[in-house]
Amino acid sequence: MLKVDPIDPEKEIVGEAIRILSEGGLVAFPTETVYGLGADSFNRDAVKRIYSVKGRPPDNPLILHISDFRELEVVAREVPSFVYELASKVWPGPVTFVLKKNDLVLPEVTAGLPTVAVRCPAHPVALSLIRGLGNPIAAPSANLSGRPSPTTADHVIKDLSGKIEMILDGGDTFFGVESTIINLTTDPPVLLRPGPVGVEDLERLTNLKVLIPAFAKGLGEAGVALSPGTKYRHYSPQTKLILVESGQCITQSDYLEYVKSLINEYLRERLRVAVMCSRETCSSYGNLTKLEVGSRNNLYEVAKNLFKKLREIDELGADLAISESFEERGVGLAIMNRLRKASSRVVFCVPTRQRVTID
Ligand code: AMP
Ligand code: MG
Repeated sequence: MLKVDPIDPEKEIVGEAIRILSEGGLVAFPTETVYGLGADSFNRDAVKRIYSVKGRPPDNPLILHISDFRELEVVAREVPSFVYELASKVWPGPVTFVLKKNDLVLPEVTAGLPTVAVRCPAHPVALSLIRGLGNPIAAPSANLSGRPSPTTADHVIKDLSGKIEMILDGGDTFFGVESTIINLTTDPPVLLRPGPVGVEDLERLTNLKVLIPAFAKGLGEAGVALSPGTKYRHYSPQTKLILVESGQCITQSDYLEYVKSLINEYLRERLRVAVMCSRETCSSYGNLTKLEVGSRNNLYEVAKNLFKKLREIDELGADLAISESFEERGVGLAIMNRLRKASSRVVFCVPTRQRVTID
């Protein structure tokens, strides 16, 4: 593991990483979303190794990372002109496009699909690796499959230590949740995974309505193999995590009262309970073990802390953890998607005065 300046990466360190990649090795590196586990996307053995070190199911395709939107034609074909326009507005940045695949792209990258996922990351380290290698870099998140994505080099070490050639430590990642993925081969475009850039922004930028299927909210799975990654449980701590959705509770006080009553039930069963809460609400849980994830008034902060806090749940010695939910606007949709996938159970808030029995 080598420390690297995230803004002005040292040439020798980047050079060493590029050498490893060009020889078919794997390098974990920071992006503006989460840490990626990179391989030369044109090297079949290196791409296959990504799946084996992560324990990633072979039908879950990888995202290709390019350093300039003009490289789109290397990996995709029949790219409509509106896609170039959109790319010029959101790239470099945390948005991934699904497009028709070019023949050059290895089937191992796309898990045999006729489409390819591609993005241009807004991170000096990632960009200098892609430019130096001269090929698109295939990079899923640098975690073991099923675990929360890594937002620090330390998370990468915990999951992949000894299994890969190099980890570049560029500090905490900026957004902390993975890129927004949008399928642009369909009309209308379909959101496959919410991320830092909200659907509202994509609609404004494209002048198109974007379809949001239930699975993109973290509810159920994609019916067909639209986005294979969505069918796998993700981000899960080992500790049982219960997510309390706002359900029928409109006011924050109704919501809090319900969460507290749920917690009390578990405490009566003598279970050790921890709660993942917002800055605004954490103080209402008395001396319960708390993980403060950020402010409800700044969902970017919540997103940035989310995976770190999900990992910390397992360090608390709790029998179960209860998580509050967050408003589903902008990056909040990504937060709720990840929380729903991470939780082992979801319960819906009912205002106490309406409640007869508790499920
Ligand atoms: P990760 O890089 O670990 O965040 O995972 C990449 C995500 O991109 C997974 O959820 C994949 O299912 C999704 N993905 C990659 N390629 C495609 C594709 N061609 N079509 C749909 N989804 C894709
Ligand atoms: Mg991942």
